[in-house]
Amino acid sequence: MNNNKIALVTGASRGIGFAIAKLLALNNFTVIGTATNKNGVNIINNCLESNIIGKILDLSNFNSINNFLKNLFNEFNNIDVLVNNAGITNDSLFIRMSNEFWHSVININLTSMFYITKAVIKRMIINKFGRIINIGSVISNIGNIGQVNYATTKAGITGFSKSLAKEVSKYNITVNVVSPGFIITDMTKNLNDKQKNSILSKIPLNRFGTPEDIAHVVLFLSSNNASYITGETINVNGGMYMV
Ligand code: NAP
Repeated sequence: MNNNKIALVTGASRGIGFAIAKLLALNNFTVIGTATNKNGVNIINNCLESNIIGKILDLSNFNSINNFLKNLFNEFNNIDVLVNNAGITNDSLFIRMSNEFWHSVININLTSMFYITKAVIKRMIINKFGRIINIGSVISNIGNIGQVNYATTKAGITGFSKSLAKEVSKYNITVNVVSPGFIITDMTKNLNDKQKNSILSKIPLNRFGTPEDIAHVVLFLSSNNASYITGETINVNGGMYMV
């Protein structure tokens, strides 16, 4: 794929975002990847020799979002592909869930997506081209004990994406969701063996996913081959949930 397009991937220092940023860069996208700190920025900058640029972005901090967007558009006129990947969990049984756990997950996983997408899409509209790919989760379909906050954000991402897809299709902008199942990253590393075996027993393909399993679908949705797909959710979960 040789295209000289520019992609922005949030949360690119680790896990799924790192794999997406790297694969897009290997396919000749110029990639801006974000991390919350300098160490993460260095990881992004060092992952390939060229066309991948790390930037600081803390989605929990409104000033950080504003500074990031200001600097971004000083440097780049337009973003062709936006991957809203950064996300967190703050698990707790609902009855004990603090306001802080609720708001932190809603703000980082959902509200920040509104801010970033709104700023980027204005340029996409002028450019009459855009690919927006939001990372959802199988949890929005099946639910999970202790994850009322997280599941809410991931279900919200689907509604956000379908509605936005209808609004901006006339500008040749597509909006889709990639919905991972259980992927081996820092987010899932703390599961104990009992939890892992229980999850594995529900995955027909009998393995956990890799970040690269997700990245290849994002690459496809970013390409011209996916120009007739919008408002869609692509489940990448080893058959754990079938629509
Ligand atoms: P991860 O390994 O924990 O990585 C999270 C990424 O998000 C990191 O790059 C992190 O940056 C960034 N991030 C965290 N807090 C942030 C903040 N306040 N502002 C900006 N960036 C922040 O997670 P992952 O497993 O790759 O998950 C990536 C996405 O896939 C998430 O949206 C997640 O919900 C979704 N997902 C994951 C799974 C799974 O099984 N892993 C399943 C379904 C969906 P720093 O390194 O700077 O902290």
